Formats: sequence, structure tokens, C-alpha cells
Amino acid sequence: MSDGCCGTTAVEIEPIVAHAAPSALPVVVIGAGPVGLAAAAHLAERGQEFLVLEAGEQAAASVAQWGHVRVFSPWKFNIDAAAKRLLEADGWSEPDPEWLPTGAELITDYLAPLAKLFGDKVRLSTKVTAISRLGYDRVRTNGREDVPFLIRLDGGEELQARAIIDASGTYFTPNVLGASGLPAYGEAGAGELVDHALPDVLGTDRETYEGKHTLVVGAGHSAATTLLALAQLDDIQITWAIRAGSASRTYGGGAADALPARGALGTRLRAHVDSGRIQLLTGFFAHSVTRSGDQVTVVSRDPSGAEQSVTVDRIVSATGYRPDHSIASELRLDLDPILGSTRALAPLIDPNQHSCGTVPAHGVDELAHPEPGYYAVGVKSYGRAPTFLMATGYEQVRSVVAAVAGDWEAARDVQLDLPETGVCSSNLAEAQEQRVGLATGISGGLLATPLPLATVGASSDGGSCCG
Ligand SMILES: Cc1cc2nc3c(=O)[nH]c(=O)nc-3n(C[C@H](O)[C@H](O)[C@H](O)COP(=O)(O)OP(=O)(O)OC[C@H]3O[C@@H](n4cnc5c(N)ncnc54)[C@H](O)[C@@H]3O)c2cc1C
Repeated sequence: MSDGCCGTTAVEIEPIVAHAAPSALPVVVIGAGPVGLAAAAHLAERGQEFLVLEAGEQAAASVAQWGHVRVFSPWKFNIDAAAKRLLEADGWSEPDPEWLPTGAELITDYLAPLAKLFGDKVRLSTKVTAISRLGYDRVRTNGREDVPFLIRLDGGEELQARAIIDASGTYFTPNVLGASGLPAYGEAGAGELVDHALPDVLGTDRETYEGKHTLVVGAGHSAATTLLALAQLDDIQITWAIRAGSASRTYGGGAADALPARGALGTRLRAHVDSGRIQLLTGFFAHSVTRSGDQVTVVSRDPSGAEQSVTVDRIVSATGYRPDHSIASELRLDLDPILGSTRALAPLIDPNQHSCGTVPAHGVDELAHPEPGYYAVGVKSYGRAPTFLMATGYEQVRSVVAAVAGDWEAARDVQLDLPETGVCSSNLAEAQEQRVGLATGISGGLLATPLPLATVGASSDGGSCCG
């Protein structure tokens, strides 16, 4: 016993005796996306009990949202090694390693068969709403690491786990339109007139965009891809708004670009801007959004206070994604103040320094939080950095699962063999786009916003292959 600061007595807290020995509990994976399912494959190979909880009605529910988009990394970088071994043992044939699949092909040819292997160990329509430690809030320390995790589901059910691999992604928490990271005034009121990145403009969303005036906000490849798709529609007006003073960064280096597919995308975009097909607004800092009937007016106010505005029928907000750590708010997380990744990972993935091909291999040591046994992996682990690749996530979960299984030698032997740029792009992209008639191009959805320099006229050189 000791005196509390306010005159009350601080009580030494007895450790709580858990009902089940944590070692008998499963490892719970949150999210059945590419990385969550890869974690399951490694857990299965190591004979570890596990359960995958997936909010969507199908495995890879987030990938399904962008099924019409062709990815920019070929199959050989998109398949986890343990998953491949398990699938091949089940009679699966690997797709052409050089092919760039669409999101839909990723599911049908890889992720859906993989999820099927795990049977009822993948629980669909099961959303995790909160995680804590059984009987312990974030403050209580003594004996904390000896009690199981408590997982609350949105139906009210509670589960226990001995470790948590959180692969829940960032897809459902897109960045806002507002230029300072805060929502623009009235942004929520624009309702269904605002779409987030990569609507299926030439497919299921075609009618929504045909004959309309659309504003695309964002300077990454998601925005570029949407703009190029819109440019294929008739009877349409297209406005593109970026914060920078010039679109040179989005255009890339054209034929000289280190990433040929990015260069090709940029060259086509520049041609549309030069011809006036796409009207470019630079120095655009979305400040307020006002809906009037079926139209919406967006006012930009730049840091000097100068305003410009545009009135449109639709907005595509391609401003990137941010992680939502709220489900883990009762756990002890050590987050980088800028990116929202772990502090140890942040300097390795900083989009001001790295493209996705130059991110070094990393694993359990970089992903660990002060809360033992909780790991955020996959695109969520990168926070706001737009440099994530599936291949990086697969190495993360190989390392984390080895650690969870007690094999620290394997856990610390992290390796990643990515060509510096070739994984992110390929001139195959355009060729394949033409062969299959896809117009969505090569982009990735994490392409949108590297750490912005919110200065009029500034153009960031921050290199990320993804945006
Ligand atoms: C359009 C696009 C193109 C991309 N192209 C490439 C590419 O070419 N190459 C590449 O390497 N990477 C690419 N990426 C980046 C990245 O590899 C993908 O985003 C990938 O899907 C990330 O995998 P993940 O498993 O971490 O997360 P996700 O795929 O986002 O999966 C997360 C899963 O968790 C589920 N979930 C979310 N919240 C909960 C909850 N509370 N409870 C339970 N389940 C939950 C979701 O429903 C989802 O199924 C692309 C991304 C996008 C958006």
C-alpha cells in the first residue's frame, strides 16, 4: 500500500486469474484479406490453433470493393509462400507469375480458394468492435501479459485469444476531402454525391458518372486512374483538384520514369489536361462543401486565404486512407505520431524517403507494441504511409507467426527480395490492360496522398511507387 497523490490510498492490484490458460486459446486474426489469410496459412503450417474473423460476407471483402482494378504487381509478388504450399497440396495451380491480376482475379484465383482451405476457422460476417485484456483495462499492469485477450464482436459475443494479429486494413477509413486533414465544412452533408477512391466508372458505376460534371480530388495514381476512366465517357465534364502548384509529380517522368507504367499513366493524363478534356485546378485546398439539390459546390481556401470554387454533380475523393486504431484503444500501443504505424516501423516506410520497393524487410521486432501479443500487420501496420505491398505484409506475418509459435530465430530472420521498382510496376500493365480491355489501369488504392506539403506551389518529390 502507498499513499495516493490525492490523499486516497493507491491499492496494489492483484493479478486476475484467467478462466482459461492463454496457451490453450487460439490466435485470433482480424480480417480475411490477403495478409490475414497469409497469417492463417503460416499459423496452419506451424500447427497453431487460430480463428480468422472477417467483417465482410466474403473473404477479402475489401479487395472485392476494388475488384475492377488491375493491380500493378504481378502474381509472383502477390502470393504468400505458406499459402502457396497449402494450396498446391490441395491441387491448386498457380496463375501465370508474370500476370497482373485484377482485384476480382486475386479473389477467385487465390484468396477464395485459400479461405476455403480453412473451413470454419474463417468466420465471415463477424466484425470485431473492441479488443482488451480479460479483466484488465489499459491502466492495469500487474500480471497483464498472463491473461488472455478479450475480443468483442458486434453481435455482443465475446471471444478470448492468446495473441491477436490485426490485419483489418484501412479501406473503410479513407482520408477526408479537407486539405488540412480535418473534414471540409459540410463534407458529410454532401452524402452520396461523394465517392471514395476508384469507383467502377466504366462498369457498375457508369450511369452514375455519365453526363455529369465530376470533381476528382487527389494527386495519386488512384485519382489518375479515375480521371483516365472518366475521360473515356461521353458527354462529361471533368475537373481535377490538387493541393500542389503543379501536377508534375502525378505525371511522373513519362518515358523516362523509373516506373514505366506510372510514366505511361502520367503521360496519358497530361495529354488530357493539355487538351482541356480535364480541367486542372492547382493550389486547391478543400475548405467547405455545400450541397444544393443534386449539385455540390466545393470552396478551396489556400493558406494565404485566397479562395476558388467549383460546382459539380459528383466528387471522387481520392485522398488516401488512414488507420483506425479505436478497436484497440484499451491496449497499450506505441504509435508513430505522424504515420500511425509503430514507432519502430515509421522510419523504414516514411513515404518521404521510400518507395514501396525500397522499404526494408521488417518483422516482429518492428511491429511489436508495448502490449505483448498484439500485432497490427498488413496495410494497417503502415498507417498513413502509401507504400504498402502485399509481399511486405506476407513477410510481416511469417515473422510474427514464427514469434507467436516461439521460433524467435525464424521470426528475426526477416528477408524481402523485391526489385526496387519492378514489383510496383511493369510495362506489362498497359499491354494487359489493352488485351483484356480494362481501363482501370495499374494503380493501387494506397496511391493517393504521401505526406503532403501544404504549401501553394510546392511539389513534393516524396517518392512512393504507390502514389
Ligand atoms: C485499389 C488497390 C490496388 C492495390 N494494388 C496493389 C498491388 O498492385 N500490389 C500490392 O502489393 N498491393 C496493392 N495494394 C495495397 C494492398 O496490398 C492491398 O490494400 C491489400 O488488400 C492489403 O491487404 P490487407 O490484408 O492488409 O488488408 P485488406 O485487404 O484491406 O483486408 C482487411 C480485411 O479486414 C476486414 N475487416 C476490417 N475491419 C474489420 C473488423 N473490425 N473486424 C473483422 N474484419 C474486419 C475487411 O473486411 C477486409 O476483408 C492495392 C490496394 C488498393 C486499394
